[in-house]
Amino acid sequence: MNLDLTGKTALVTGGTRGIGRAIVEALANAGAKVAFTYRSSTEEAETLLADLTKRGVEALAHQGDAADTDAANEAVKLVMDTWGRVDILVNNAGITRDGLMLRMGDDDWNAVINTNLKSVFNFCKAVYRPMMKQRGGAIVNLSSVVGVTGNPGQTNYAASKAGIIGFSKSLAKELGGRGVTVNVVAPGYVATDMTASLSEAAQNAMLGAVPLGRPATPADVAGAVIFLASGAATYITGHVLHVDGGLAM
Ligand code: NAD
Repeated sequence: MNLDLTGKTALVTGGTRGIGRAIVEALANAGAKVAFTYRSSTEEAETLLADLTKRGVEALAHQGDAADTDAANEAVKLVMDTWGRVDILVNNAGITRDGLMLRMGDDDWNAVINTNLKSVFNFCKAVYRPMMKQRGGAIVNLSSVVGVTGNPGQTNYAASKAGIIGFSKSLAKELGGRGVTVNVVAPGYVATDMTASLSEAAQNAMLGAVPLGRPATPADVAGAVIFLASGAATYITGHVLHVDGGLAM
């Protein structure tokens, strides 16, 4: 199985912590040149960039809001200007703004839809032409088990993550003829800052429903991303790969 990414160039949104950071590390370990974006964690971004560079990994960092069209275009331009091609795009940046719908304000709805879904549109659009011209590329978008099953208090988040699935299948059909794959990874419960704020009761309830009996680590999710971005998965497109310990069966 060919999981080697030597010589490939990759771009990851929201790469400074959690799942995004694990994806950046895994791409680098597989041999790829890695660019990552971040919104506000300048210190973490600088440390990560320095760590990667020290290890001999060719790496780039770009500061910007993934929901912003210009920022997405600039990040892809940085990769193209530096490395001349973009082989792998991982849309990872995401937020939650939970609350029952009755109390959910427009700002909570817009923030989640723009950060989680509009960002995917922005970055996919920015790599569309380069990948088409290259006649190859792999796009992996991070959805969630919640986008498949729904979850009370997460109408905005579920809509954004379900939207990513429909979006990715449509784009997979558009770009298939050019040798570009578009796939989705749908994690279940992953131990990161995003889930750390959940109450202990909510964390235990979720864990109780996971057949494998433990939360995912960010590295568990990164492994699935590497597979879908690699030469081992060139005949897989429009797929939703659940990395949830069996939660959504
Ligand atoms: P996290 O909160 O630890 O990290 C999210 C990252 O996205 C951070 O680096 C953050 O700075 C970045 N980000 C947020 N908004 C941004 C913006 N507007 N522009 C640029 N970067 C931005 O979360 P995580 O758990 O690592 O989640 C990563 C992805 O996985 C998200 O899309 C999330 O929805 C998805 N996911 C997480 C879980 C989980 O249980 N943690 C489950 C399913 C799906």
